[in-house]
Amino acid sequence: MSKTIIISNRLPLQISLEDSNLEVTPSVGGLATGLKSFHKDGDSIWIGWSGLTEEEIPENLLDDVKEKARKEDCVAVNLSEEEIDGFYYGFSNRTIWPLFHYFMEYTEADKDHWETYKSVNRKYADEVLKHYEDGDHIWVHDYQLLLVPNMIREKQPEAIIGFFNHIPFPSYEVFRTLPWRDEVLEGVLGADLIGFHTYDYERHFLSSVSRILRHQVNFNEITLPERIVKVDSFPMGIDYNKFEAAAQNHFKNTEEQRTELQRRLDHHSNETPEAKLILSIDRLDYTKGIANRIRAFEYFLDNHPEFIEKVRLVMLAVPSRSNVPQYQRLKREIDELVGRINGKFSTVSWTPIWYFYRSMPFENLIDLYTSCDIALLTPIRDGMNLVAKEFVATRINQTGVLILSEMAGAAHEMNEALIINPNNFEQISQTLIQAIEMPIEEQQQRNKTLQKRLKRYSVEKWANDFMKALHNTSQDRDAFK
Ligand code: UDP
Repeated sequence: MSKTIIISNRLPLQISLEDSNLEVTPSVGGLATGLKSFHKDGDSIWIGWSGLTEEEIPENLLDDVKEKARKEDCVAVNLSEEEIDGFYYGFSNRTIWPLFHYFMEYTEADKDHWETYKSVNRKYADEVLKHYEDGDHIWVHDYQLLLVPNMIREKQPEAIIGFFNHIPFPSYEVFRTLPWRDEVLEGVLGADLIGFHTYDYERHFLSSVSRILRHQVNFNEITLPERIVKVDSFPMGIDYNKFEAAAQNHFKNTEEQRTELQRRLDHHSNETPEAKLILSIDRLDYTKGIANRIRAFEYFLDNHPEFIEKVRLVMLAVPSRSNVPQYQRLKREIDELVGRINGKFSTVSWTPIWYFYRSMPFENLIDLYTSCDIALLTPIRDGMNLVAKEFVATRINQTGVLILSEMAGAAHEMNEALIINPNNFEQISQTLIQAIEMPIEEQQQRNKTLQKRLKRYSVEKWANDFMKALHNTSQDRDAFK
């Protein structure tokens, strides 16, 4: 029986060392949820890094890690600290990530990082090849593993391989600046099916392939000398039912079941019943436009002092890649901005920004999503932005307003949100007023349509659609022979 082999940078597992004992807990990220129906009961394996470096795992526990992963149908790729530095923090996050998000000034071209990226991609591919059997479907994920599809193809020319890029694909004019642009495109083209979140990313990729590698492109097919590669867009959804159910439960919580955060939020609305809570949640990343958002909020308060004490920005920034210098600088910038603006506008009974720099457990996220009136999400570039979708899914009485940057992939599917340009402070300020004053009926009308769409295009559907399309490419190939 053929199986599915899933490959991603990280396994859907949290492995930690507690008093020299290994703790393994399955993690329930979006990708793991979407692939649930493919990754169960032995008909699939998942290959990825465990999250602990070789140096962190004591020698005598190495087999234990393997065994614990195997119980979850996972295969752990072991990586050293040096490999993580060059491959993950280096080439993935100091070259590909900034370049693909149009931050060219942050993009490094370090040959050593590139060499490590290649050798680590080879490690993942070798692990796939160890487990591959004829007829298996292979699904490679994301920008850390761009070379893996072709590394598998070279050894297994008949393999059925899919690749999904979870971040934007930049325009040709930006992509062409990468010194290793040919190798990266050839790496991805090892796949039979290449998926992106939006049609624009797909178009950018096709144009790079045709201009850089000079392959023939017809509509969404690339003709290679030996085979055809299909490219398509599959916008990723969320586990809608999970967020909806969590929000429903949240409102059923008795006084004792309320979390500390919930009590604080309740206190806010009792104290200032007419004040609106504006929510922002992101990883602390320069692509998310967090500093700009705070500046836009300052602009809003400067120009509309009538809203002083009538709004509050609740900002959750989740620590991320904190050993990359740009992320450290951004953290300092945000700390300073929040301090300055709170110092400038606070009154004895009110602070304009509540700032949390940490990650929050799921129930606290739900507290935030359900208690705030407006979500203000202003990324400068964002492959998709699932937070926007999660916010809408938790609005069970269908009130609430989503303000979303047109630079987020999600904006393509969320026309009923208030769409803004994250660099236009005047527009953001006017849109905040529109959101604050929006009649309940209009909020409900917009959210109703959004919710219907999000429910239908859930993460399960996304995974099923991709796998179906991958399966079809293999049938087309057989018909071609
Ligand atoms: N999230 C989380 N913990 C937190 C805050 C957010 O796990 O403390 C989740 C959130 O629910 C969402 C994801 O992180 O599913 C962020 O995804 P998104 O596509 O918005 O941005 P990314 O971080 O992938 O760029």
